[in-house]
Amino acid sequence: MRYEKDIVFYISNTIIEKIDTCIKLASPNEASGFILGNIQEINNNNGDFSYNYYSVSFHCIKSSTGSTVSFLLDNDQKILELSDHLMKNENLKLIAILHSHPSGTTPSSTDKLNMKYYHNSGLKKFTHLIWIIVDSRNNEMNGFIYLSNKLTQINLILSAYE
Ligand SMILES: [Zn+2]
Repeated sequence: MRYEKDIVFYISNTIIEKIDTCIKLASPNEASGFILGNIQEINNNNGDFSYNYYSVSFHCIKSSTGSTVSFLLDNDQKILELSDHLMKNENLKLIAILHSHPSGTTPSSTDKLNMKYYHNSGLKKFTHLIWIIVDSRNNEMNGFIYLSNKLTQINLILSAYE
């Protein structure tokens, strides 16, 4: 898979704890949620840009329908509706959609279809969206983005920052 080191996504310890709680609450189903925050574009002066994503808040999405993940990820209207509401409240951008897998952090074929679909949806909100997949056994996570119509792994950094 292609790897883009110039897209760096920072997740703070506070958010990691919230993700952990969300996964426990959803168990045995897969968990999902939104990360809101800010994106900083840096011009490296040689025509190159790098992007830093700073996560500010995490919202665990609860579902009444059993499988949270398909409830959310297959439903662009639901994503728009929920994230619009949160963004208005917090004045932040939707920067990532997160979901868990029972094992591993590799995007499934359904995940790949969803990512491609949202990337090509023409909605600006989805163009720079990061997809984070968490392994619910050990909370390992990886981030992905659709770039130039290719699935690309990004540089996900789990750390404390203010
Ligand atoms: Zn998945």
